Amino acid sequence: MLQLTPQRAKPRKRYRLAKKNCIKENMNSNQSKYTKDFLERSHKGCFCNKQEILQGELCGCFFCCETSLPTEITEWIVERDNLGETAICPKCTMDSLLSSKYPITDETFLKQMHEYNF
Ligand SMILES: [Zn+2]
Repeated sequence: MLQLTPQRAKPRKRYRLAKKNCIKENMNSNQSKYTKDFLERSHKGCFCNKQEILQGELCGCFFCCETSLPTEITEWIVERDNLGETAICPKCTMDSLLSSKYPITDETFLKQMHEYNF
Protein backbone atom coordinates (compact mmCIF):
# COMPACT_ATOMS: atom_id res chain seq x y z
CA MET A 1 0.00 0.00 0.00
CA LEU A 2 2.74 2.41 0.90
CA GLN A 3 4.40 1.85 -2.44
CA LEU A 4 1.43 3.39 -4.25
CA THR A 5 2.01 6.86 -2.90
CA PRO A 6 5.05 7.88 -5.00
CA GLN A 7 3.52 6.32 -8.11
CA ARG A 8 0.36 8.33 -7.72
CA ALA A 9 2.19 11.59 -7.34
CA LYS A 10 3.56 11.51 -10.88
CA PRO A 11 0.37 11.37 -12.93
CA ARG A 12 -1.12 14.10 -10.77
CA LYS A 13 1.63 16.45 -11.78
CA ARG A 14 1.10 15.63 -15.44
CA TYR A 15 -2.61 16.22 -15.12
CA ARG A 16 -1.99 19.66 -13.71
CA LEU A 17 0.18 20.53 -16.68
CA ALA A 18 -2.44 19.32 -19.14
CA LYS A 19 -5.07 21.42 -17.44
CA LYS A 20 -2.92 24.51 -17.70
CA ASN A 21 -2.57 24.01 -21.44
CA CYS A 22 -6.33 23.63 -21.77
CA ILE A 23 -6.99 26.94 -20.09
CA LYS A 24 -4.55 28.62 -22.44
CA GLU A 25 -6.39 27.23 -25.48
CA ASN A 26 -9.72 28.38 -24.12
CA MET A 27 -8.50 31.90 -23.72
CA ASN A 28 -7.35 32.02 -27.31
CA SER A 29 -10.37 30.58 -29.08
CA ASN A 30 -13.28 30.44 -26.63
CA GLN A 31 -13.93 27.02 -28.11
CA SER A 32 -14.77 25.00 -25.05
CA LYS A 33 -17.07 27.19 -23.00
CA TYR A 34 -19.90 24.73 -23.60
CA THR A 35 -19.43 20.97 -23.53
CA LYS A 36 -19.98 18.70 -26.51
CA ASP A 37 -22.78 17.07 -24.58
CA PHE A 38 -24.52 20.39 -24.06
CA LEU A 39 -24.13 21.30 -27.74
CA GLU A 40 -25.61 17.97 -28.76
CA ARG A 41 -28.58 18.39 -26.46
CA SER A 42 -29.08 21.95 -27.67
CA HIS A 43 -29.14 20.77 -31.27
CA LYS A 44 -32.41 18.96 -30.59
CA GLY A 45 -33.93 22.37 -29.92
CA CYS A 46 -33.83 23.31 -33.60
CA PHE A 47 -36.37 20.61 -34.52
CA CYS A 48 -40.14 20.91 -34.01
CA ASN A 49 -39.59 24.00 -31.94
CA LYS A 50 -42.59 26.17 -32.93
CA GLN A 51 -44.30 26.22 -29.54
CA GLU A 52 -41.05 26.61 -27.65
CA ILE A 53 -39.94 29.52 -29.82
CA LEU A 54 -43.28 31.32 -29.72
CA GLN A 55 -43.25 31.10 -25.93
CA GLY A 56 -39.94 32.93 -25.72
CA GLU A 57 -39.13 36.55 -26.41
CA LEU A 58 -36.17 35.90 -28.65
CA CYS A 59 -34.68 33.12 -30.72
CA GLY A 60 -31.14 32.59 -31.95
CA CYS A 61 -29.78 31.00 -35.12
CA PHE A 62 -26.57 29.00 -34.98
CA PHE A 63 -26.04 29.19 -38.71
CA CYS A 64 -25.82 32.97 -39.09
CA CYS A 65 -25.33 33.54 -35.33
CA GLU A 66 -28.01 36.24 -35.27
CA THR A 67 -30.94 36.60 -32.90
CA SER A 68 -34.47 37.32 -34.12
CA LEU A 69 -37.86 38.00 -32.61
CA PRO A 70 -40.25 35.03 -32.85
CA THR A 71 -42.68 37.41 -34.59
CA GLU A 72 -40.14 37.87 -37.40
CA ILE A 73 -40.38 34.20 -38.38
CA THR A 74 -42.58 33.76 -41.41
CA GLU A 75 -41.67 30.23 -42.48
CA TRP A 76 -42.17 26.98 -40.65
CA ILE A 77 -41.42 23.49 -41.90
CA VAL A 78 -44.20 21.03 -41.20
CA GLU A 79 -42.41 17.85 -40.17
CA ARG A 80 -43.55 14.42 -41.29
CA ASP A 81 -46.01 12.37 -39.24
CA ASN A 82 -47.36 15.50 -37.53
CA LEU A 83 -44.31 15.70 -35.31
CA GLY A 84 -44.55 19.45 -35.18
CA GLU A 85 -43.27 22.55 -36.96
CA THR A 86 -39.70 23.74 -37.26
CA ALA A 87 -38.81 27.41 -37.40
CA ILE A 88 -36.88 28.87 -40.33
CA CYS A 89 -34.46 31.68 -39.56
CA PRO A 90 -35.77 34.95 -41.05
CA LYS A 91 -32.17 36.15 -41.55
CA CYS A 92 -30.57 33.22 -43.38
CA THR A 93 -33.48 30.80 -44.14
CA MET A 94 -31.81 27.87 -42.36
CA ASP A 95 -33.66 25.64 -39.91
CA SER A 96 -31.12 26.39 -37.19
CA LEU A 97 -33.15 28.42 -34.72
CA LEU A 98 -33.14 27.83 -30.99
CA SER A 99 -35.59 29.22 -28.45
CA SER A 100 -34.61 31.43 -25.52
CA LYS A 101 -34.47 28.28 -23.38
CA TYR A 102 -30.89 28.07 -24.67
CA PRO A 103 -28.14 30.67 -24.06
CA ILE A 104 -28.81 32.30 -27.46
CA THR A 105 -27.80 35.77 -26.34
CA ASP A 106 -24.29 34.47 -25.76
CA GLU A 107 -22.40 34.84 -29.02
CA THR A 108 -19.93 32.17 -27.92
CA PHE A 109 -22.75 29.64 -27.64
CA LEU A 110 -24.04 30.30 -31.17
CA LYS A 111 -20.51 30.27 -32.58
CA GLN A 112 -19.67 27.03 -30.83
CA MET A 113 -22.94 25.50 -32.05
CA HIS A 114 -22.09 26.64 -35.57
CA GLU A 115 -18.65 25.11 -35.47
CA TYR A 116 -19.94 21.90 -33.97
CA ASN A 117 -22.74 21.39 -36.48
CA PHE A 118 -21.50 22.88 -39.77
ZN1 LIG B 1 -29.90 32.40 -39.41
